Parts: sequence; C-alpha cells; structure tokens
Amino acid sequence: KMHNTILELKGNIRVFCRVRPLLLDDSADNETKTISFPTTIEAIGRGIEVVQHGQSHPFMFDKVFTPHASQEEVFVEISQLVQSALDGYKVCIFAYGQTGSGKTHTMMGTPGSDDDKGLIPRSLEQIFEVRQKLKDQGWKYELQVSMLEIYNETIRDLLSSNKSGSTDSANKQQYAIKHDSNGNTHVSDLTIVDVRSSKEVSFLLNRAAQSRSVGKTQSNEQSSRSHFVFTLRISGVNEAMEQQVHGVLNLIDLAGSERLSKSGSTGDRLKETQAINKSLSSLSDVIFALAKKEEHVPFRNSKLTYLLQPCLGGDSKTLMVVNVSPSPSSVNESLCSLRFAARVN
Ligand code: ADP
Ligand code: MG
Repeated sequence: KMHNTILELKGNIRVFCRVRPLLLDDSADNETKTISFPTTIEAIGRGIEVVQHGQSHPFMFDKVFTPHASQEEVFVEISQLVQSALDGYKVCIFAYGQTGSGKTHTMMGTPGSDDDKGLIPRSLEQIFEVRQKLKDQGWKYELQVSMLEIYNETIRDLLSSNKSGSTDSANKQQYAIKHDSNGNTHVSDLTIVDVRSSKEVSFLLNRAAQSRSVGKTQSNEQSSRSHFVFTLRISGVNEAMEQQVHGVLNLIDLAGSERLSKSGSTGDRLKETQAINKSLSSLSDVIFALAKKEEHVPFRNSKLTYLLQPCLGGDSKTLMVVNVSPSPSSVNESLCSLRFAARVN
C-alpha cells in the first residue's frame, strides 16, 4: 500500500539517473571512488550513493543506470513512454546534468554509430515501426517535427532556412508562444516539417546540429549554454472506428546545470548565467508544484516552462533523466544534480 501512496503523490513524473563511464579526459585521480550502487534488495537498480568529504549521500530514483548500461538498455525503459505519445498523450523527456555528464550522448548518441544511437533516433524508429503496424488496423498517422533552441530566454529556430540566427528583440517578437484551448502550442514562424520516415528525421537532426554549431562560434560553447527542444506532433485518425488521437513527444537536451558563479562574470556572460539559472530553477519549481499537486504552477517564469506548459500539466507524462559524471573532480556538481532530481522525484 505504501508503494501506491508514493505513486499517487508523484503523479506522472518519473526520474531516472544515468552515470556515464569514466573517460580518459576525466581527472587523473581516479583511484578514489566517489559513486557506488547499493546492492540491497530495495535499492538494486534504483539506488546511488555519493561520497563527499568522507560522508555518504544515498539517493533513490525510479531507475538508476550504471556506467555499463547501453543505449539500448536505457531505451527499453522509456519505450513505454514513447508508445503513450502514439496513444495520444503529451510526453516530455528531459536530460539534466552538468556539461560533460552525458546528456547529448543519452539523447542523440554518437553520430554515425548505430549501437550508440540515443533516445531521439530510437524513439523515432519505434514510432515509425508501430505506425506501420497500426496501418493494418485502419490508423493513419501524420507526424510533424520542429526543433528549437532556447538561449538567453530567446528562441532560435533550428530548421529555419534563414541562417542569420539573430538573437535581438525582433527575434523575440518573431517566435511568440501561444497555447490554444485544445492544449496545442503554437510558436509563430517556427518551421514545422512533415516527416514520413526516421531517415527524414535523421536528416533534419543533422541540419539542426549544424545550425547549433553556427551559434557555437559566435558564443563560446553555446550548445551547452542553451536548451535544445525536439518536438514531434502526432495525429492519428481511424475513420472506420471514428477515432482520433493527438499526442506530442518532446525530447529536451537541457543547458548544462553547473553552477555558474555570478561573481566574475559580466556583460553577456552574466546575462547568460542568469538566464540558465532562471530557467533550470523554474523547471524545478514547475515539476515540484505539479508533483505536489499545488494549485499555482509557475509556468510563466521562463520560456522553457511556458513553451512546454501543456505537455507538463494535466494528464501528460514527464521523465527527467539526470546525467552524472563519475569523475571525483565532479563530485560537488553530481551531488547538486542528484539533489535537484530528488526534489522533483
Ligand atoms: P553533455 O551533453 O552533458 O555535455 P556529452 O553527452 O557530450 O555530455 O558527453 C560528454 C562525453 O562523454 C562525450 O565524449 C560522450 O561521448 C561521452 N559519454 C557520455 N555518456 C557516455 C556513455 N554512456 N558511454 C560512453 N561515453 C559517454
Ligand atoms: Mg551536450
């Protein structure tokens, strides 16, 4: 019964944690092990322990992936959520964590490596496969993709053929966010592309990646300082059964969560820092308020939460994947990420 109460309280929010393997670039002091995975019956597959200054900090999540977990093993655990988007739910899957913790690896994977494909390409493959099967039962599905980046509280269309990538006030007016009474989100002037195969989506993902790196040269490592939002809109009709479904799948690679100190940063850098801190804490506030079923949910405090509002509240489904680096030099940031996750879990 205790289990049930916890589920009710949590509603439709799940939290997974993924620890990436140690890399050659990680700090030389790899002898001290700071992260371990408890093997007791209650905690196996769900527990993680971080040691900081000789003190142990235990956490429990819906699922914990050790550094050995493959992309396939992670995907197996989210495929149900992808299916529910086809069934007409609004779904958000976030990757949260400091820069270098494995967010982009989890979401996108390694370009060109089939085994290393991340959640986005695997989700699309599943959706197109299931769509093919449902065709025999009379279902016709239409799928549309958009990809955008939120940088300094400003939206950038990653599929726009206009390469200028302006981030001035004209842009702010250009990408106005509106929600209609059916719970659909409209971003004015945003490029929306009809897609018929996962190959087409791969092509668009590459285009978006190129568009992101254009910005990178303008501002140092902009991609880790911005949120990447991939949106798939799904409309299914079955004329014989007189049924239709409308689902949305949002896959979000968040800006790096490392705490950027305000001291020392000035001008653009300070503005950037404030924008990231604000949107990540707004996201945490929104998810926390939803989990606690609070009456007022502060969606309007950031572009990201306002954009995703219809996909976060109501009977939508949310998954937060918290990515963690095992490097001893990252222990402080790892603890911050796990505490963030524990707050929304
Ligand atoms: P982030 O997007 O959070 O900044 P990345 O996804 O770019 O982090 O990961 C940082 C580095 O770690 C990359 O070189 C990536 O290939 C590698 N990496 C991350 N997760 C894994 C993993 N599960 N297995 C192998 N390598 C990984
Ligand atoms: Mg990244």
